[in-house]
Amino acid sequence: RRSVTLASRPKGAPTLDNFEMREEVMPKPGEAEVLTRTLWLSLDPYMRGRMSDKASYAAPIAIGAPMTGETVGEVVESRDPRFTAGDIVVGAFGWQSHIVSSGDRLTIVPTGVPYSAYLGVLGMPGATAYAGMTEIGQVKPGETVVISAASGAVGAVAGQLAKRAGARVVGVAGNPDKCLYIQDTLGFDECIDHRAVMDLGSALRDACPKGIDVYFENVGGDLQDAVYPLMNDYGRMIMCGMVAEYNDTKPRPGPNLMDVVKKRLRIEGFIVTDKLQRFVDWRAMATPWVADGSLHFREHVVDGLENAPEAFIDLLRGHNFGKLVIRVAEP
Ligand code: NDP
Repeated sequence: RRSVTLASRPKGAPTLDNFEMREEVMPKPGEAEVLTRTLWLSLDPYMRGRMSDKASYAAPIAIGAPMTGETVGEVVESRDPRFTAGDIVVGAFGWQSHIVSSGDRLTIVPTGVPYSAYLGVLGMPGATAYAGMTEIGQVKPGETVVISAASGAVGAVAGQLAKRAGARVVGVAGNPDKCLYIQDTLGFDECIDHRAVMDLGSALRDACPKGIDVYFENVGGDLQDAVYPLMNDYGRMIMCGMVAEYNDTKPRPGPNLMDVVKKRLRIEGFIVTDKLQRFVDWRAMATPWVADGSLHFREHVVDGLENAPEAFIDLLRGHNFGKLVIRVAEP
């Protein structure tokens, strides 16, 4: 089997030298284990954190170990009676062409929507948007919601949920094509191209004349600084991620957190995997929307496990347009 392993820890932005492609003998499933052939591999910004050995909510990947990641695979051989060869399963396994795992870590993927959707809109990113919007955002009709990285896996779902809740939704994204997609396909009210505007603060003020009630934070950095003073009283900042800062080598000067006290803002981080019921609830709600086409999702497909390192580096530069997935093999 082929694996992409962590060769060294990045300093700043990851480079191809940080990854190594390895060929190994094909593993055999032991008692209650299942051998799967990977069809789809998800690449996500959180993986940058796992490459570092700084203290975090999850353990770092060991040097020489496969990169971790969610996958959709086809069962090749099963020693767990719940699975048979040919079943399509989703699980968290890593950048590998074939994986042996306990059957307890596998979920059979229902038919009806593309398998790769279980890595994006119906997977961890979709559940992340759902958790953030429902548990922290709690959007009311007429409120103004700003979504960063709005064309991405999390942001696209988050903004569509805010529209469904009756909000005025403003997306922020990194190029004109993304903005067009955000307005024309996803149905957001406005989109700001953060790479094109001279002054993010005034662009946001124009787009949000009544201030911002809910901010879905995916990027951090300059955008967070620009959003922060526009937050309304009792605003909610959904602190989901700060991808713009993942490659930083030095901490940035922090925001003045006194405003959190003064405006009774709620700034709250969360980890989607803490409550696995979210995945169940979200899939039950969203699968029909995906099946009937009313919940839009866009995928950026890269072919070949060997191209995963380069695609991952590009993800952190914003070169992906939609949920980045690797097509590892044909089903
Ligand atoms: P995306 O599909 O949105 O891809 C990342 C996007 O981030 C890029 O396309 C780019 O969009 C933007 N970006 C990257 N670098 C920069 C930069 N330097 N400055 C500004 N924007 C940048 O990724 P996901 O939807 O998978 O993830 C979005 C966020 O959600 C991440 O921060 C991630 O860590 C977080 N997350 C948190 C979870 C949790 O449990 N808390 C779970 C899952 C994800 P653009 O060009 O439009 O700016």
